[in-house]
Amino acid sequence: MKKWLLRLSLCLLLIFSAVPRAMAVETEAPVQTPVEINTAEDLYAIAEDPAGSYILMTDLDMTGIPWTPIDFSGSFDGNGHAILNLFLSETGKETAVVIDGNVKEYEAHFAGLFGTLRNAEVKNLKLINVRALVDTDVPCLIGGIAGYSEVSTISDCTVTGCLELRAHDRMFGVGGVVGYGTGTVQNCDIDVTLICTDTDANTLDEQFLGGVFATGFMSVRDCQITIDGYCSEFGYVHNGGITGMLRQHPGQNKFGSTIRDNFISGKITFFECNKNRRAYCRPEVGEILANWYTVTHNKHDFVKDERKEYDVELRPEMCEKPEYTMTIVEPGCDTYGYTLYCCNGCGYEYTDHYTLFQHTVREWMEQEPATMEKAGLSTGSCDLCGAVCQRVEPMLEAVPMETEAPTEETLEPTQPEVEPEGQTIPGLIWMIPAAVLAALCALLLFGRKKHVGAFLQDKK
Ligand SMILES: [Zn+2]
Ligand SMILES: [Zn+2]
Repeated sequence: MKKWLLRLSLCLLLIFSAVPRAMAVETEAPVQTPVEINTAEDLYAIAEDPAGSYILMTDLDMTGIPWTPIDFSGSFDGNGHAILNLFLSETGKETAVVIDGNVKEYEAHFAGLFGTLRNAEVKNLKLINVRALVDTDVPCLIGGIAGYSEVSTISDCTVTGCLELRAHDRMFGVGGVVGYGTGTVQNCDIDVTLICTDTDANTLDEQFLGGVFATGFMSVRDCQITIDGYCSEFGYVHNGGITGMLRQHPGQNKFGSTIRDNFISGKITFFECNKNRRAYCRPEVGEILANWYTVTHNKHDFVKDERKEYDVELRPEMCEKPEYTMTIVEPGCDTYGYTLYCCNGCGYEYTDHYTLFQHTVREWMEQEPATMEKAGLSTGSCDLCGAVCQRVEPMLEAVPMETEAPTEETLEPTQPEVEPEGQTIPGLIWMIPAAVLAALCALLLFGRKKHVGAFLQDKK
């Protein structure tokens, strides 16, 4: 008896000491496994663990989803996927000190997919049709991917869309990828419309606009930049195809900036209504205030378009009451759909309301049937490109069970429920002849023989 008890307690001891060890091994090993992002909710949940590592598993359409820019210090891998139609109207929670050309400091607010990036990494992300309309009373900088970057790296990304900032408080600006920053942007494809409007004619602001970043001290390499910029300013403008101003912070001489091997095309239209004019506007960098920098091997096809009328805000659309003709372009197997807007008055065109890729599958094959307990799965190949597609079939709804043999009457009500699910139709096709057969048998067996006999006789 004692031996038996001893063995049992030894066994229990072994089990309970092994379990925590096994669990500890499991949590220690895959430290760097990134968290998968499959939905807009997953994307927003980054804010709960902003130092984490993330990977985007599918394209996301952010239409109609309000966005608060996330302050981020982790790693985000877009995995070649896209975020469509992100709309920015508010700034993130974190602020940071930014400096102008005279090293004057401002506590600024930021907007972008990320508000601030600190020692962060963002790669392989397509930000398609990002749109911003930020109207603010405080110093503010915005960019498609981040409002502010501190020693962060953004690589192999695409940014397309239209970013508009309306501000008037001392220092503000718009960049295609980043508002204000240090760090690196490399191998990115950028095609943006940028609008920066000073909403108060009485103060001399410092305004910045750049195809990659508005101002700061970043390195930019191997980027393709297409810019259509508009600046209306009653202070000092700093405009550039890559950045409005390259400004080395006097206290941060450990960083250098390299701007090379980029291609810039496009135009910046601006006015600077100011007696003491500077009107910086250049294909690469508007103004340079730095020692440790290299700007070389960039190519451009760039137009500086300075205006001298100051009473009308500069915008891509200059008609007072524009009316647009809309053309919807459907998505393809590997192309986004979108709506093309064309102004009837001036011919100005832009695109908006992008839609996700869509294959065309006519015939679906049931792989796992949907039941009342779990969803099913169908596969099919695209009629256009042959790609194998999967479709999740919704769980079946509970239908009252019939104990009698099915007749045509009991079948009928279930038909409209089942049909839209598609994959159960083959089942129905078999059930209809079975029911007809059952009805025929019933007729033959229960006293309708005379009628059948008469029918057969008529045939003769
Ligand atoms: Zn027009
Ligand atoms: Zn296809």
